[in-house]
Amino acid sequence: MNRLNMDTLLSKFPLLKTLIALQPTSWFNPNITSVEEGMKLVGLGQQEIQQASERLNRFAAYLTKAFPETTKNNGIIESEVIDIAEMKKQLQLDYGKPLTGRLMLKKDSHLPIAGSIKARGGIYEVLTHAEKLAMQAGLLEESDDYGKLCSESFRQFFSQYSIAVGSTGNLGLSIGIISAKLGFSVSVHMSADARQWKKDKLRTHGVNVVEYEQDYGVAVAQGRKEAEGDANCFFIDDENSQILFLGYSVAGQRLSQQFNELGIKVDQDHPLFVYLPCGVGGGPGGVAFGLKAVFGDHVHCIFAEPTHSPCMLLGVHTGLHDQISVQDIGIDNVTAADGLAVGRASGFVGRSMQGLIDGYYTLSDQTMYNYLQKMDRLESLQLEPSAVAGVIGPMIVSANSEYLQRLKLDQYKMANATHLIWATGGSMVPEQEMQDYLAKSVD
Ligand SMILES: *Cc1c(COP(=O)(O)O)cnc(C)c1O
Repeated sequence: MNRLNMDTLLSKFPLLKTLIALQPTSWFNPNITSVEEGMKLVGLGQQEIQQASERLNRFAAYLTKAFPETTKNNGIIESEVIDIAEMKKQLQLDYGKPLTGRLMLKKDSHLPIAGSIKARGGIYEVLTHAEKLAMQAGLLEESDDYGKLCSESFRQFFSQYSIAVGSTGNLGLSIGIISAKLGFSVSVHMSADARQWKKDKLRTHGVNVVEYEQDYGVAVAQGRKEAEGDANCFFIDDENSQILFLGYSVAGQRLSQQFNELGIKVDQDHPLFVYLPCGVGGGPGGVAFGLKAVFGDHVHCIFAEPTHSPCMLLGVHTGLHDQISVQDIGIDNVTAADGLAVGRASGFVGRSMQGLIDGYYTLSDQTMYNYLQKMDRLESLQLEPSAVAGVIGPMIVSANSEYLQRLKLDQYKMANATHLIWATGGSMVPEQEMQDYLAKSVD
């Protein structure tokens, strides 16, 4: 970006100076819309979410066979919601302020097969593709027992086709594992941020891992290029895919059911705040979409990003979306939160979801390390750095009286609030790697 454009941008959006200085900050969008209006912009609705949910139900019989760890939940890939009362005490101590309402954690960190939120979208898109191919070949019907896909003959069939994806680690892990299991030939293009253990793990599954010295944007572009030259190769486009997005969105109805079982209300007098770590935006965007579809205007979604990779905040705040990257304003996109190391946000998610996301905040890698350690010590939960980005969200929301007034949420309603931190990954992190993370805490 040239000097002139940069000066104009900075005078129009002074918040960018804080981003450039890598200071933790937050922005609560004053232009949020009602659910009806917001959903229209996305161009997807209840019906598409329902179809995704039904497709996942059809595949449950396959998943229990191919991945026995999914048997205890009947082949449905879902995570628990738990109270984190010790963390609640700790946050109040750390910030010297009370936090009212209930503090909970969504354990996508412990989802089967991939150990991260990518077990929602990534696996869903591969299953959708496999179903389509098998149906086109006359080998599968919706009414069949999908358990039959777990067979040598289907693996032979899928081996004629390939799948490619670019990733900072976890998306590659989920797509690589499920694709290889089905029998596809699969290439994962990994950015420089990707952890060695994630690459090693994929290779043991027979996945072709291609490594880059550059960041996520380059890895995605290379994956796309590989697929373009080959009609039998399907490219999973993390920057634009509506199928990935729908796979994530099913989380909304699942959470609603879990809340019913726990007797947790979400309505005008019982607001729900959800804190979602954001990379390119597909995961948190899709989950937020699904949450809005079930809880309507009573759920408030807030995205968390590293100070070194605030791509969604930058894109939505300036209205430039995928036309601007953090590198354009001199930010390096180097962070220990490998799942969030994205310099340019999804244009699809930013444009279509901006009216449905209440706010955005940034935090330093050190804050993530500190809460990673506290999560381990206080709640015996092992998470990766990206996955703890949501932890401080409730303190940022409670401190923002202007935002709460705008939502007409007084202290009585806030006393009934549920704050849900979406923990997005970590259960598969190797022991030594976890020890290294824990050692980085200074608290
Ligand atoms: C991918 C990922 C995210 C963010 O998802 P995006 O779709 O990239 O926004 C958050 N946390 C973890 C651990 C991830 O792997």
